[in-house]
Amino acid sequence: MSSIPKEIQDLSDLLSSLPGIGPKLSNRLALYLAVNGKSLALNLSHTLSEIISKVKTCEICGNVSLESVCDICKDTSRDRSTILVVEDSLDLFNIEASNIYRGLYHVLNGVISPINGVGPSDINISSLLKRIKEDEVKEVILALNPNVEGDSTSLYLKDQIENLDPNITITKLAKGIPAGSDLEFASTQTIVDSVKSRKQF
Ligand SMILES: [Zn+2]
Repeated sequence: MSSIPKEIQDLSDLLSSLPGIGPKLSNRLALYLAVNGKSLALNLSHTLSEIISKVKTCEICGNVSLESVCDICKDTSRDRSTILVVEDSLDLFNIEASNIYRGLYHVLNGVISPINGVGPSDINISSLLKRIKEDEVKEVILALNPNVEGDSTSLYLKDQIENLDPNITITKLAKGIPAGSDLEFASTQTIVDSVKSRKQF
């Protein structure tokens, strides 16, 4: 009996740990890279090692960056009294593209998810609390995705921030983003509306 070669199975197992890739698709991708897509596979391996050596996360806000501090944190023309909190850098880039917001950001690089074993200390929360404590922050805008994990992470952050400094205004994006959907896919107009009409949380 013949079965899938171990090397391809190993690659498939690696691919299936990517978000959104199940075992059937990972088998198909692994076989493709091993047989028809050899030059793509070489390109991928080169690009991946470049990414690993060059790309990091900003030591202040957690945004993806080529330097230790990202361009947004370096930009002195931005309003430093407001921090908008997002789940990942894709959400940040989408909000930036809408041109509605000129404050700073904080990128959690995840959300609290007990079912996936992700607790508060596994994501970029402590550095947010440190910024709130040490910098001149007046408002924190919570812009996490409207789903169970995003909502419970928002509640957790609200508690922590209120304990730290009850005078800070905590707001949440208005309900423009449809429940269960992702900020990453929201239209520019939806983002503009939901930032403009954000509500006290
Ligand atoms: Zn930054």
